[in-house]
Amino acid sequence: MVVNPIKVGVIGVGHLGQHHVKHFSCIKEAVLIGLFDIDTARAKKIAEKYNSCAFSSLESLLVQVDALSIVTPTINHAKIAEKCINAGKHIFIEKPITKTLAEADKLLKLAQKQRIIIQVGHIERLNPALQVLKDYQIHPKFVEIQRLSPYKTRGTDIPVVLDLMIHDIDILLSLIKSPVKTIRATGMSILTDSLDIAHARIRFENGTVASIISSRVAKNKVRKLKLFQKDLYTTIDFLLELTEVYRIVDKSEKHPQALETIPFDYKNHHKYIIYDKPIIKETDALKMELENFIRSVQGLERPIVTGIEGRNALDIALQIQEMIIKDID
Ligand code: NAD
Repeated sequence: MVVNPIKVGVIGVGHLGQHHVKHFSCIKEAVLIGLFDIDTARAKKIAEKYNSCAFSSLESLLVQVDALSIVTPTINHAKIAEKCINAGKHIFIEKPITKTLAEADKLLKLAQKQRIIIQVGHIERLNPALQVLKDYQIHPKFVEIQRLSPYKTRGTDIPVVLDLMIHDIDILLSLIKSPVKTIRATGMSILTDSLDIAHARIRFENGTVASIISSRVAKNKVRKLKLFQKDLYTTIDFLLELTEVYRIVDKSEKHPQALETIPFDYKNHHKYIIYDKPIIKETDALKMELENFIRSVQGLERPIVTGIEGRNALDIALQIQEMIIKDID
């Protein structure tokens, strides 16, 4: 089967968009046509760096490409995405998909009508430390997640729930295949006019409970996830790309690869706790997600995070946010 390369452009080449340009310039199945940014000096600089072309308007870039990455501040996603979809172009939108649910729903409807792909940049799904869990039977009953960051000006156009917590909401929804039953949440503004710290407790219909804390008032970055289920406990450090798995197994089971085996006795049952540290392959998650986008446009793969999944994560994030605002009013 002969598959044509995909002509691609990038809208917004700030902190993250420059990396989209870098990766598209070397993804084999993509032809980087150019980029557009309202900051023309920045656009020129990034275009020169990656031997690409800075377009003077979004419209002039749109007519030349099959697909685009939208890497502008979240507040602009909906307006820009709508233009791209109406022009029949496939889009990769950085997270969160949009600022409001109504905007996301409108984009999804338009995309369905135009038969185009919307993919959302929930990059943590590709974190190799999470990906290795595919080798285990994961059915968590309790999940604890922490995502803490030192304050930065970037991202403060949106509350911490949409900036940071939404990554973990997306991970949770991908791990727990059950509808959300109840949400409790609280938080506060510390440094900005919007929420800087948020804590949510989510109960799923299958009984799983998750506790998520997100903050942009921290000395150091922390990105940790702990999963607890019958006879299994996992910790993931997304920054260190380290996953550790502890399982309780029968004494008769052989686990020669386990790093440690410790006796575990309970009510006359004699078992073992085995400790694994699965090997994590070094990968570039952004490059993988953009490759997946290009291959999805070519019809060879499915988007790792679809527009609907981006919308669903936003839905829960907005519910949490509204609950916190009511709680602190
Ligand atoms: P940034 O402020 O560094 O860059 C945004 C760029 O968009 C700027 O260069 C700005 O001039 C340009 N821009 C603004 N309005 C525009 C418009 N109408 N048309 C064209 N260009 C425009 O922001 P950033 O940190 O790169 O974030 C961009 C997006 O990526 C945000 O939605 C953010 O939430 C998301 N993001 C995702 C992750 C992740 O982990 N997936 C990490 C960081 C940022």
